Amino acid sequence: MNKKLYSPLIFELSHKGRNADALPHYEYSKDPIENLQQNLLRQADLTLPEVDEPTVVRHYTNSSNNNFGVDTGFYPLGSCTMKYNPKVNEAMVSHAKIANLHPAQPINTMQGALRLYHSLEKYLAEIGGMAEFTLNPFAGAHGEYTGLMVIRAYHQSRGDSARTRVIVPDSAHGTNPASAAMAGYEIVEVKSLSDGTINVDDLRSKLDNSIAAVMMTNPNTVGMFEKAIPTIADLVHSAGALLYYDGANLNPLLGVARPGDMGFDVMHINLHKTFSTPHGGGGPGAGPVGVRKGLEEFLPNPRVVENNDGSFDIHYSEGAFGRVSAWLGNFSVYIKALAYILTLGGEGLAKVGPLATLNANYIMHSLKDLYELPISGPCKHEFVFDGLRDKSTGVTTLHVAKALLDYGFHAPTIYFPLLFHESLMIEPTETETPETLDAFIEVMREIALKASAEPDKIKSAPYSTPISHPDEDEAALNPIVTYRQLCNNTI
Ligand SMILES: *Cc1c(COP(=O)(O)O)cnc(C)c1O
Repeated sequence: MNKKLYSPLIFELSHKGRNADALPHYEYSKDPIENLQQNLLRQADLTLPEVDEPTVVRHYTNSSNNNFGVDTGFYPLGSCTMKYNPKVNEAMVSHAKIANLHPAQPINTMQGALRLYHSLEKYLAEIGGMAEFTLNPFAGAHGEYTGLMVIRAYHQSRGDSARTRVIVPDSAHGTNPASAAMAGYEIVEVKSLSDGTINVDDLRSKLDNSIAAVMMTNPNTVGMFEKAIPTIADLVHSAGALLYYDGANLNPLLGVARPGDMGFDVMHINLHKTFSTPHGGGGPGAGPVGVRKGLEEFLPNPRVVENNDGSFDIHYSEGAFGRVSAWLGNFSVYIKALAYILTLGGEGLAKVGPLATLNANYIMHSLKDLYELPISGPCKHEFVFDGLRDKSTGVTTLHVAKALLDYGFHAPTIYFPLLFHESLMIEPTETETPETLDAFIEVMREIALKASAEPDKIKSAPYSTPISHPDEDEAALNPIVTYRQLCNNTI
């Protein structure tokens, strides 16, 4: 990996007077800005880079090559499900009939789009075992918030206003307590057992009529299946609370099991994780929310409904707790998810979970003699190591993750979940070949052996990236994120 280490900013390539345009001379006698008020006019010229066309093209092409993504290499980031996203989905979204839609155009001109929207809702309901779905939320966390607002509306509709708290396991993703707090709830934490699953006795002791909901992830964030779900669902329901399913880990269950059948009342799905939208850097995404029968009326507005004559309408219902998105949400993400579902079909979807699980177990077993496995037994789609087994050299999970970069692999998730000191969380997904998995295993083994033999070599890796070991405290506390600052400091 001998990449060019530093790409200058486009501003640094600027030369006064250079340009890439040849616009005709301005022909009108009256300058259109003449009529504008003086205080609205810019006082000095805008500082724009002045560059020729080849320089612009090379600059952005080279910059894009500095990115790492699923399309450039193996990306075993646990909890994020960075699976390959078939290119046919992008082709569908780019189709002029979809790309040129405007959400404000008359409903009779977007019947086809509404049909696609409605059929995705139906597929998700079938996959999740739920009565109905809303596609509106923009992300998983947004879906959690939406689901909790549905739960709040449900309790309120029954005149039950004493439920002010939400139970979240200590292994939960940070968005769970954050979303519950955003929805106005107090958080109650439930402990995990040493095998990573929820402590049912602790849960039982915390359930009472102040609890609105219990949020669970299954398989949980350490990749273990929560076997006690039927018992948990009974306990939660007899306490009058609802059971929420964080669907970020739905990938290993696809076609194998359905949250609705397990007793969950409300769930979200991260379309950008399980249903094939490239993500990272904050989006785009979608976090559709499904509810069991009896909760449909509380879903947010607007909804797409099918009329008796087979046409579609956008509907606003009275019982909805409100709305969470502009228009109908992130339409391009829905099209990709729908294309993915239709391409794989029922038979293909049913292979996703088992293959993802097989791949994760294969890596886990191939590395557990060198990496510390705190929870034994088969995992689902991901698993967590607690750093290297050889703890004598001071080589940490951070060092291992950085060393991987020199070999062209993206690092796994590190220091999450918080249950272990040296968490290294690996999720290969179903879309990787045995050759890729073997190459990754070989490199991970090499790093572990080197960490024991020449620890300093591993501690100062990576050697091939533009920056090797930034001062992370300084970067977090005093980030320089604007060009002007950089310009003042360095030029
Ligand atoms: C990713 C993730 C979330 C949050 O989803 P976003 O789409 O990133 O908001 C919640 N829970 C778990 C377990 C996750 O992995």
